[in-house]
Amino acid sequence: MYYAGVDIGGKNIKMGIVDDFGKVLASTVYKTQMERGYDAILLELINNINTLCEQAGFEFDELSGIGIGVPGIVNSRAGLVMSCSNLQWKGVDLANDVKNLTGKPCKVCNDANCAALGEQRFGSGKNYKNLVFVTLGTGIGSGIIIDGKLFEGLGCAGAEAGHMGIQVEGDVCACGNKGCWEEFISASALVKQTKAAIEKYPDSRLAQICKDGISGKSAFIAAREGDGVAKGVVDRYIGYLTYGIIGLTNILHPQAFILGGGVANEGASLILPVKKMLNDYIDNNGFYPYVDVVGASLGDSAGYMGAAALVM
Ligand SMILES: [Zn+2]
Repeated sequence: MYYAGVDIGGKNIKMGIVDDFGKVLASTVYKTQMERGYDAILLELINNINTLCEQAGFEFDELSGIGIGVPGIVNSRAGLVMSCSNLQWKGVDLANDVKNLTGKPCKVCNDANCAALGEQRFGSGKNYKNLVFVTLGTGIGSGIIIDGKLFEGLGCAGAEAGHMGIQVEGDVCACGNKGCWEEFISASALVKQTKAAIEKYPDSRLAQICKDGISGKSAFIAAREGDGVAKGVVDRYIGYLTYGIIGLTNILHPQAFILGGGVANEGASLILPVKKMLNDYIDNNGFYPYVDVVGASLGDSAGYMGAAALVM
């Protein structure tokens, strides 16, 4: 059977036609242009699904369902987008609107939850029924899967690991809480930590590398070149990341953590030390079994593939 998965972002909309085995038969990316409003976005979205069905070689009528991921608070049981600041949507009846316009079953869910589901069904989480997915991007996205199902909490407002407090006296976060994990482990936080190190050590190799601009990669690049200042930044960042992962392990003890987003592209130099620190901690406490830490494998496709999995 064939399913359409859609990942709506503030800038781009990604979508694909996916079969039961996670094979992508056709896909596309286009600009959201949120200023044109909900109705226009919705109509183009349905038109584009039609086109993708054609490209995949079957009729729209043969499509079994449509799943949609939205960046915001989404009540997936009711199919409602409660609030989405990127798109300025509030209380939008998205699942029903799609159903009425297409006659197809439709489910909607938070975008990070969709990506978690995508990785669990078709990506590097395939071998696990219990996992926590965390994306280390500009902000933090997260999803929790328990016994093969998304855990979303009351009103589907939970599973926001980025807003887990890790420092009582920390800076105030956009959510209103203080010292949220996101303020320490997002790519933006890593850039801030890198900037602070450069100001303190303007003669370091790290400062030299950052002359043409700082990104979440800078500290990792300089650390690989043997710069001690950069290594300090990377080690501290990995410490913050593992600190939260240990907290989540104490609550959930999942089989694995899947790390995605820009910073996770560092691969082994990020994943291996996190995995070692986490499992040394588990070992010291006798909390067997060990917990795996792996990089996400679906990249930008995780969101729409997971959205498709909502209707499988
Ligand atoms: Zn917060």
